[in-house]
Amino acid sequence: MSDTQEGRCAVCARVPSGTRTRLCVDHCHTTGRIRQLLCNRCNMAIGLLDENPVTLASLARYLAKHAEPSAPMRHAPERARSRA
Ligand SMILES: [Zn+2]
Repeated sequence: MSDTQEGRCAVCARVPSGTRTRLCVDHCHTTGRIRQLLCNRCNMAIGLLDENPVTLASLARYLAKHAEPSAPMRHAPERARSRA
């Protein structure tokens, strides 16, 4: 799985660094099914929002609504931005 993701988080496409250098094996807490490998930050964010795609989509819309037009996206490598 890590080879197909080239060591990058499936959400933000970052390579983990610092104290958390390994990707987390993300899984559905209802079914136990393994999804993909995520960095700790993305894995935590999904968990904090109860794995609810509606809430996560609402959060993305909220951030886009309040984004400064001239401000660059922080912490989003080109690869992640091109998928959005
Ligand atoms: Zn990530």
